[in-house]
Amino acid sequence: MATIPVLRLSGSFNRQLSTLFGRQLGTTSAPIQRTHTNKKDDNVLKSTSSALVPYRNQSTDVAPAPEKKPYSPFQGPFSSKAEYALTRLDDLLNWGRKSSMWPMTFGLACCAVEMMHFAGPRYDMDRFGVVFRASPRQSDVLIVAGTLTNKMAPALRKIYDQMPEPRWVISMGSCANGGGYYHYSYAVVRGCDRVIPVDIYVPGCPPTAEALLYGVLQLQKKIKRMSTMQIWYRK
Ligand code: SF4
Repeated sequence: MATIPVLRLSGSFNRQLSTLFGRQLGTTSAPIQRTHTNKKDDNVLKSTSSALVPYRNQSTDVAPAPEKKPYSPFQGPFSSKAEYALTRLDDLLNWGRKSSMWPMTFGLACCAVEMMHFAGPRYDMDRFGVVFRASPRQSDVLIVAGTLTNKMAPALRKIYDQMPEPRWVISMGSCANGGGYYHYSYAVVRGCDRVIPVDIYVPGCPPTAEALLYGVLQLQKKIKRMSTMQIWYRK
């Protein structure tokens, strides 16, 4: 069984110690056992490492650029020029709506703290055009952030009714999604979708600010696919 020496203390470390203690420390060597000793093992090792080369190259290869998707989800075919024009008008409307979503400040419980976090400078929702608005009459998104109790349910419905169309609802957290921890409580509504229609559910207790951000981006995607003008034309 062959042994090879290993130097335990490197030069710079040794020098630092000698300045601390005023004398040079001796280097020590300790034998370690080699796991393979003969040439046959070496050959096996070499062939294994060369077999891994294609995989290593694959993992370090530059990924091909993703296929560029068109901006509009409506790509035809169009039966007339009018339909084409209305489709582009829809694109314009949707772009305006998704780029200036104003959520209503409606924090009900602990989830509201994450909602505030999401509005703060770290995530900076202003860059997506999301600006909190303290009035239902100028808001188009309602973020239900927290536990909805039976007592609060009529107020939630009233606020929703006061919002102008088109309006969207994000249900944030387990409590708003389905009652959460308080599902069996006599005082809690088992999901805010029993009171108002919900577009996006954000899971978690509480969901992180990133999760809410993802929910908002999903809502933007949904808005991008709205076909208000096309439906009006078909009627
Ligand atoms: S989901 Fe969790 S964090 Fe959010 S309101 Fe309910 S208990 Fe609080």
